[in-house]
Formats: sequence, C-alpha cells, structure tokens
Amino acid sequence: MRFDVLTLFPDMFEAVLGDSIVGRARKNGILTMNFLQIRDFSTDKHRRVDDYPYGGGAGMLMTAQPICDAYQSACAGLDYKPLTIYMSPQGRVFDQNVAAELSEQSHIVILCGHYEGVDQRAIDQIVDMELSLGDFVLTGGEIPAMAMIDAVSRLVDGVLSGEEAYIDESHYAGLLEYPQYTRPAEYMGRAVPEVLQSGHHGNIELWKRQQSLINTLNKRPELLSRVELSEKDMAFLEDYQSQQKKN
Ligand code: SAM
Repeated sequence: MRFDVLTLFPDMFEAVLGDSIVGRARKNGILTMNFLQIRDFSTDKHRRVDDYPYGGGAGMLMTAQPICDAYQSACAGLDYKPLTIYMSPQGRVFDQNVAAELSEQSHIVILCGHYEGVDQRAIDQIVDMELSLGDFVLTGGEIPAMAMIDAVSRLVDGVLSGEEAYIDESHYAGLLEYPQYTRPAEYMGRAVPEVLQSGHHGNIELWKRQQSLINTLNKRPELLSRVELSEKDMAFLEDYQSQQKKN
C-alpha cells in the first residue's frame, strides 16, 4: 500500500513512521510512504505557501497553487486517481471502521492543512474525502495523518506478524479488549486471574469474552448497541448488571 503525504512538515513523519512495526513494513516493501514538502512546489519567489484570507478573519490560509502542484507530482505517471484525503476537523470522524475501509485502498494521498486551513479551491480540486481525528482543533493535519496512517497500516496484510494480530483488539469486533497480564504471576500483591493460568482453552475464551463485555459496558456502554451480541452475551450482561446493583 502506498501513502503520499502533502505537508509543510515532512520531517515530523519519519520520527513516528520510520520505526517499529510501520517502519519494519516499509523496509520490507509492504508499505511505501512519500512525504512531499508543499513549499518545494511554491512558484512564489520567496517560496511562500500562505496568504491572508479574502473577506478578513484571523490568521493565514495555505494557498492552492503549491498544494495542487505537489498533488500533481504525487500523481505523476498514474493512470488512476488515488483516494485523496484532507485531514480536517470538519471531516468524517475517523474510527476503526474507517481504518478498515481505507486499508482496502492501494494508494492514498493525504493533505495536511496548517495555519487557519486551506484555500477551498485546493480542496475542491483534489480532495475526495475529509477525515477528522475527533471534535477538537489541532495546529495542523500532521498528527491526525500519522494516527490515520498508523491505524490503517496495521490492518494491511503482512504488516503485523502472527503474534501481533489485531483481531482480538479493541474495536475490531465492536467491543473493547479484555484486560491482559504478563509475567510475573503476582505483582505487588495483585495476582493474574487464575483462569488465565489454568491452561483450559474453553474457560479462557469464555473469560475473555465476558471481560470484553464488562469492559465495554463500564467504559463505552454506547458501543454495545452497535454490536451484535449473542443470547449468551446478553444473559451474561443482564446477570452482571443485576449483581452490580445488588453490591
Ligand atoms: N479553520 C479550520 C476550521 O475551523 O475548520 C481549522 C484549521 S486547523 C487550526 C489547521 C489544520 O489542522 C487544518 O487545516 C487541518 O488539516 C488540521 N486539523 C486540525 N484539527 C483537526 C482534526 N480534528 N482532525 C484532522 N485534522 C485537523
């Protein structure tokens, strides 16, 4: 899978996406990433990339020309239009479902805004989709782009090794993950639940499912209405809630 990122701060990306699991996948050729410096495409003699907004208002806006030329450079030689995403607080809020949808793409171009944002004509010209990291405003689109690239990349075949599989993780199947423990079996008087040390596969799987349900109920109850629960799950939750009320 290929990502081309149009940004005024390309150096930020290597620090985050050059190491660890994503870095390894890039070295193995499973992922290709290009970070294009928008300023390099400015035709202004001072390499300016921003200007005052028409109609007044605070701050500066990124101009359309360097963005569109950087985009043309990212698309040079292609016979298709890659999905082009503008990271924006006005966009669809990113979540695991969006990550799964995007991981089906073979090539994504990402535009990172800065300052007060981007001249609308650049958005109209190149962007297919706006994506938000959440309902808050950041200084630039770089952090949201990195978060999005990381979340999408780990769903691409071959990026995670067998031991790092994502299918048990929070949000993959709509629930939060169960609590996890590693060695030692006891730490500061807190023991690892006995069932996890029992070696009984069936009991361990049941415990994990029930703990996932409890975690989701306690931390993100609204997620439960969006996930398909079995009768066994619902009976367990009812029982758990009535026990809680009694305590
Ligand atoms: N004036 C813009 C508005 O009100 O919609 C906000 C501009 S923001 C200060 C600068 C840039 O940061 C945006 O162009 C966008 O690329 C990025 N950004 C800020 N918050 C974001 C968020 N929640 N999700 C994704 N990108 C965000």
